[in-house]
Amino acid sequence: MSAVPESADKKEEDTNIPDTEEGHRSDDSSDGSEGGASGEAEMDFLRNLFSQTLGLSPREKVLDELTMDGVAQYMKSGKCKNIICMVGAGISTSAGIPDFRSPGTGLYANLQKYNLPYPEAIFQIEYFKKNPEPFFALAKELYPGQFKPTVCHYFIRMLKDKGLLRRCYSQNIDTLERVAGLQGEDLIEAHGTFYTSHCVSFLCRQEYNLDWMKEKIFSDEIPKCDKCSGLVKPDIVFFGENLPARFFTSMKKDFPSCDLLIIMGTSLQVQPFASLVSRVPKNTPRLLINMEKTGQSDVLMGMLGFGGGMDFDSDKAYRDVVYLSTCDEGCLALADLLGWKEDLEELVKREHDLIDSKDKQDKAKMANQSVGAAEGNAPGAETGKSDKTV
Ligand SMILES: [Zn+2]
Repeated sequence: MSAVPESADKKEEDTNIPDTEEGHRSDDSSDGSEGGASGEAEMDFLRNLFSQTLGLSPREKVLDELTMDGVAQYMKSGKCKNIICMVGAGISTSAGIPDFRSPGTGLYANLQKYNLPYPEAIFQIEYFKKNPEPFFALAKELYPGQFKPTVCHYFIRMLKDKGLLRRCYSQNIDTLERVAGLQGEDLIEAHGTFYTSHCVSFLCRQEYNLDWMKEKIFSDEIPKCDKCSGLVKPDIVFFGENLPARFFTSMKKDFPSCDLLIIMGTSLQVQPFASLVSRVPKNTPRLLINMEKTGQSDVLMGMLGFGGGMDFDSDKAYRDVVYLSTCDEGCLALADLLGWKEDLEELVKREHDLIDSKDKQDKAKMANQSVGAAEGNAPGAETGKSDKTV
């Protein structure tokens, strides 16, 4: 309070009396020079108070221009060391994984035979505990491993390899980030993951790995716990369940030191994930690569200097960049500006070849196993030869 410029009671009254007491004050500022000066000082005081208590430091422009090129220049400057990626379903669509949150993608239509009361029921924990079949049918269809990570996934991997990735916050449950080479510590799977599973019984909570779950799903068996016969559920977050604790603890550590936020393939409509964009420091540039603009400020909150929503177009825009394209195209464009494009394309090709050859091996192994099983079960039936006849 020592910063208040005028301490006389009279002045305090002047400036604090609401408009209703002196009807002319609000729209007539020329009513005496003394009052005007005092008003300005008061505003300065308020401005300082606000900036101190709310941390509204002056907005410094970090990017030379609000374009992809501006972002690339900044990334090359050496000042950008902690990049956070926030990603959603849009980064996996080119891998052939449908956005299951959007009804009408054909995904729900395939589930009609299960008579879901409404589409979202399939992801509701209470419904699942009673009717797990529709979920596992969908899981079979969406099963990770049938799909390859996208250019965008490998771009994030490159950020990691170059020591620039602070963390990738994903809303996806398809584990493609892991397939692309990110480790558990690089990742916050905000809506969980198929990577591990647990028995739903609170007393048991036995953990199962991906191979175990995969076998159950592909044999059309409802996964039951080996220890207690309880239902086993992949560790994805259902409606009615909490987000992983790590989401909240990491968020508090990661975002205050973020130098660049890259948001890809998400409509920023699911909370609390969407609110993460406002957790980076006020000057930190934010790049959105998406098919449409999203996450823009609420006008009123923006005027008050709160909000932290995205601002690409207003005359106050100073840090937010949008690149309207698919995530793969956007990442290739950025990689090109960074001089990484060839390396990225090579990485994608090398990794996809590896996945293909592993797939081939797996299929050959499975074919051999079933041939062996057929021969073992019915000797001679297929080949006309058997040990017995020799
Ligand atoms: Zn159990």
